[in-house]
Amino acid sequence: MKGGIRIFDMTLDTPLSELYGVGKKYEKYLSSNGLYTVRDLLFYFPRAYQNRGDVCEIASAPLDNMPHSFILTVACEPKNALIRKGMNILKFRAFDESGSVTVTYFNQSYLKDVFKTGAQFRFWGKISREKRTLCMNSPSYEPYIYGKPLLPLIAVYPLFSGVNQKYLIKLQKEIYPYIKSMVTDFMPEETRRKNGLCTLAYALENVHFPENEEALKSAIRRLTFDELFIFALSLSRIKTVSEEKTAPLMQNSDISPLISMLPYSLTGAQKKAISEISLDMCRKNPIFESGDAESANKTQFCPPSVDNLSITDFIKPMNRIVVGDVGSGKTVCAAAAAYIACKNGFQCALMAPTEILAAQHYESLSPIFEKLGIRCDLLTGSVPQKEKNAILLRLKSGKTDFVIGTHALIQDKVVFENLGLVITDEQHRFGVMQRARLAEKSESAHVLVMSATPIPRTLSLMIYGDLDISLIDEMPPGRKKVSTFVVDESYRERLNGFIRKQVQNKNQVYIVCPAIEEKKDDIDNATDYDPFGFSYSLPAPHMKAATDYAENLKTVFPDLKVELIHGKMKAAQKDGIMSSFAKGDIDILVSTTVIEVGVNVPNATLMIVENAERFGLSQLHQLRGRVGRGADKSYCILVSDSKSPTAMERLQIMHSVYDGYTIAEYDLKMRGPGEFFSNGGPIRQSGDVGFNMASSCSDTVLLNSAFESARELIPTLSLYPLLAAEVDKACKSKSNTIN
Ligand code: ADP
Ligand code: MG
Repeated sequence: MKGGIRIFDMTLDTPLSELYGVGKKYEKYLSSNGLYTVRDLLFYFPRAYQNRGDVCEIASAPLDNMPHSFILTVACEPKNALIRKGMNILKFRAFDESGSVTVTYFNQSYLKDVFKTGAQFRFWGKISREKRTLCMNSPSYEPYIYGKPLLPLIAVYPLFSGVNQKYLIKLQKEIYPYIKSMVTDFMPEETRRKNGLCTLAYALENVHFPENEEALKSAIRRLTFDELFIFALSLSRIKTVSEEKTAPLMQNSDISPLISMLPYSLTGAQKKAISEISLDMCRKNPIFESGDAESANKTQFCPPSVDNLSITDFIKPMNRIVVGDVGSGKTVCAAAAAYIACKNGFQCALMAPTEILAAQHYESLSPIFEKLGIRCDLLTGSVPQKEKNAILLRLKSGKTDFVIGTHALIQDKVVFENLGLVITDEQHRFGVMQRARLAEKSESAHVLVMSATPIPRTLSLMIYGDLDISLIDEMPPGRKKVSTFVVDESYRERLNGFIRKQVQNKNQVYIVCPAIEEKKDDIDNATDYDPFGFSYSLPAPHMKAATDYAENLKTVFPDLKVELIHGKMKAAQKDGIMSSFAKGDIDILVSTTVIEVGVNVPNATLMIVENAERFGLSQLHQLRGRVGRGADKSYCILVSDSKSPTAMERLQIMHSVYDGYTIAEYDLKMRGPGEFFSNGGPIRQSGDVGFNMASSCSDTVLLNSAFESARELIPTLSLYPLLAAEVDKACKSKSNTIN
């Protein structure tokens, strides 16, 4: 008994502090990683499994520096010796039928009472030869009783500061006996049966403590299905809501003043997209240039009388996504839409995923708009409070026509006078839910979404099924392709020479690494059982970490300006570095994927991606799009030491294919839909439903059936209150704070 609650009263909402072994200190560690209740822990899934079911014999165990499983008998009483101050060592011999091994533990003298002579254990550890004896240092162990088989697969949890594997497993063990009584299945029985899914309780038991491989497979299948199913249901919920909405019919479709201020002429694809936007909002074609006979003829333009303007007609809102590769010129389409809204007396909000991107939009658009008599504002998290309040006031009173900003725009205190159009840029960085939230700022607003992420057609129909699509499939003239090459470590010196050459030519270099810091996990990654592909993963090449990499690079190029940027930095710090890179004050920028989003640095001509095998192709394509934006020839070098033939085959696609859609289709085919739901993937978005299992999903059929089942169920969702509650939870956006 602890804290007044008896442990057998455990429910999903029981705080973790009620569990044995969770004191104040651990409560803090757990909660800082988002784990507060039994439910949180139950849905904290392993990232891999160790296959301890394949037991080795000592004599034939490979000395391959990989952990293996052994069933051994303790041969003699352990000896404990103090080897120096603060360090004692416990040693004993253990054997199986084939041979014997010396087992050692450091500073764990209490284990003397565990390893009794004659007792049997299953050990999991690396075997090595020291002189002529075989040794095993600090293996994991479980008591083994003949005839009582141990679980073959042991979960490996993602670690966080303050806890280790043993601790997480201990907590899961404490919860395990109560799973069946705590968990009620929210899925309608019929849906479950139709899709051949196990019950939720069974899935949760077996994802943490799998009985065997089959049970684990079916647990993962069920939990993956759940994530996709709930996601699909919440999407359809948003769609049903938006179908009842209306938005103002815009009278004036003359965008020629805006277009005449551009230093270039529009591409055909841009004109087409703008026409589609104009038809959505105005029910007529845009007037591109004053005196343009062709477009004037097409438009039955009747000058609105004063009376007409005061009574607004309402139509079905525009609900459109503009999709085009990076650099294809989507911004001007957004600008045209904003211009139409503002010139018709409505406010427009444009939401960008980062401060720097918002600022870049503001800097490029506001001078033009102000000249055209449209008042602009920039609202981001870093705007000082006083200024923020002034902006909020101007938005509420209608003094600002066009506001550009970040997540700050979707806060509750942002109120508009008459918002007529909301635009979200780089949609893949926002949750589908966040897009809906911004649209909710007005009773009636048109919605325009911009995305640089090509999503395979099958997926985009599911995700963007409610949006009309304008495809910008043509690049502005004069763009050169970014030459892409795949190299391995042996090219390092040549690569460094190439970096220097770019900088000598007054150009800049991006280098992307997959991680911020080296991860010192207490379990050897290389031998983890891959739960999703059900094969052993190959020993992964050493993962380059941006922090160390940048330090090292500073010694290789002592005369160059090398900077580091990563996602754990404060927004202001990131923006500072990004701006000085954009200004040309930094030669080489080492980063994690934070630079993925559309910041424009035309002077950057070389993109190097380290451990390229770790990235999805679509993500690599995005990264490649950061260079080749200026006049100079640009390059993308993918560095990988991967020994996996399929990984290398994937990377070679980047060398030969340049079209984002084709690349996305390859991604889907080779890695499965999970790639698109993974962290940093196009569908997994900040503040959105978390995808744990779905991000490793390699099963397109499962994805389709989850969406199909959701479609069937949505009309009768209210009959299933438990399920409806899950959907509600998913629909509530988690992000209501200024970034
Ligand atoms: P994205 O589609 O990635 O958002 P942008 O809208 O930022 O692309 O455009 C990329 C660059 O191309 C910008 O510098 C923009 O001024 C330029 N640009 C856009 N349209 C054209 C065009 N029709 N002709 C020439 N340059 C263009
Ligand atoms: Mg853009």
